[in-house]
Amino acid sequence: MDFQLTQDQREIQALAREVAQAEIEPHVAEWDSEHRFPRELYPKLAQLGLMGVCIPEEYGGAGADFLSYVLVLEELSRADAGVGVTVAVHTSAVTLPILTFGTDEQRSRFVPPLARGEAMGAFALTEAEAGSDAGALRTRADQDGDGWRISGAKQFISTAEHAGTFLLFARTDQETPGAAGISSFILDADHVRVTGREEKLGLNSSVTNSIVVEDALVARDRLLHDENQGFRVAMATLDAGRIGIAAQALGIAQAAYDAARSYALERRQFGKRIAEFQAIQWKLADMATEIDAARLLVYRAAWLKENGEPHGEAGAKAKLFASETAQRQTAEAIQIFGGYGFTKEFPVERYFRDAKVTEIYEGTSEIQRLVIARSILGLTERSFAVS
Ligand SMILES: Cc1cc2nc3c(=O)[nH]c(=O)nc-3n(C[C@H](O)[C@H](O)[C@H](O)COP(=O)(O)OP(=O)(O)OC[C@H]3O[C@@H](n4cnc5c(N)ncnc54)[C@H](O)[C@@H]3O)c2cc1C
Repeated sequence: MDFQLTQDQREIQALAREVAQAEIEPHVAEWDSEHRFPRELYPKLAQLGLMGVCIPEEYGGAGADFLSYVLVLEELSRADAGVGVTVAVHTSAVTLPILTFGTDEQRSRFVPPLARGEAMGAFALTEAEAGSDAGALRTRADQDGDGWRISGAKQFISTAEHAGTFLLFARTDQETPGAAGISSFILDADHVRVTGREEKLGLNSSVTNSIVVEDALVARDRLLHDENQGFRVAMATLDAGRIGIAAQALGIAQAAYDAARSYALERRQFGKRIAEFQAIQWKLADMATEIDAARLLVYRAAWLKENGEPHGEAGAKAKLFASETAQRQTAEAIQIFGGYGFTKEFPVERYFRDAKVTEIYEGTSEIQRLVIARSILGLTERSFAVS
């Protein structure tokens, strides 16, 4: 067992840290308060290879491994979780599944523009009546000549208003209810109309849209993987995607801990630094321990994925633990800051708001527990929940 990062992994981690400090941290409070999607940031990330970290060089990516990608997400999210989710959805929910399930033609046509950051990706699974129960989705794709005509409405779609490429899930078999009759399609922005943008508790530098697809006629070559196999694509995508969301949660928790530790060493009450009070020391000790444990789970899951090992259970455990750690630790960070923690003067209230959603998207904590329980109990049914 080797707990050391490789030289390449350390370099890409340092690169992500540098760009986060230079290009994200100075602006993040403003993006948050103005609810602004920093469109101008993504070409800069792309130039450094960070929009396609784990995509092979022949497809326009940086050719690094999945753990490197996770390290990048952790560092970006440490600076701004909104940037973290935008890169995560783009990479592991759109680019990777096209690379994994696409034909040679689909790979060479759609992956390079995504990996080079020329197009941004959006993953369109969730609908008003199909959240955890993604298999209940109603967007339909009906055969029309040699292609499909697609109609439906999706909600909570990250980055949709900036996306050039959509991975969209629709029902191709109208007779079969549930997960079995679903297929996945690669759509362009032209096929999609953005109908709304959510006002959110946090993650304000990301955008979350509702969209409709109205009688969009797409050719056969837009079907990703086999007909009626879309749910498999969604499940495999989310198995990997959750490791990215776990890394996002880890980055938020780390940022909260860093801020709380520094503050505790500076703030004086009763003639002492508050770090000298055992109550504060224990909080920091618990934070450091839980963050360490979360990091080990996240990196292990990434290592399993990189090595072609089953990683569904490990990814679900990593996401469950890292997201709940982030939620707890960001609250503790506010507590360590006292009244100042409740104000916008310090970033810990933003970390607290941003952490919450990591327990919800790409499968809620309840759904992660279901995934883990079914895995450890040897139950294989996967018709539930997941986006
Ligand atoms: C900011 C943001 C960004 C998002 N981005 C995307 C995106 O890019 N693409 C996309 O497709 N989706 C996206 N989503 C949607 C997200 O994945 C869903 O919100 C999530 O899967 C939960 O679905 P739901 O909101 O419908 O909640 P529900 O499924 O209605 O769940 C409500 C509650 O019931 C619980 N519950 C449901 N079923 C069970 C069960 N079987 N057992 C126990 N408890 C259960 C849930 O855990 C939860 O507590 C995003 C959501 C948000 C908030």
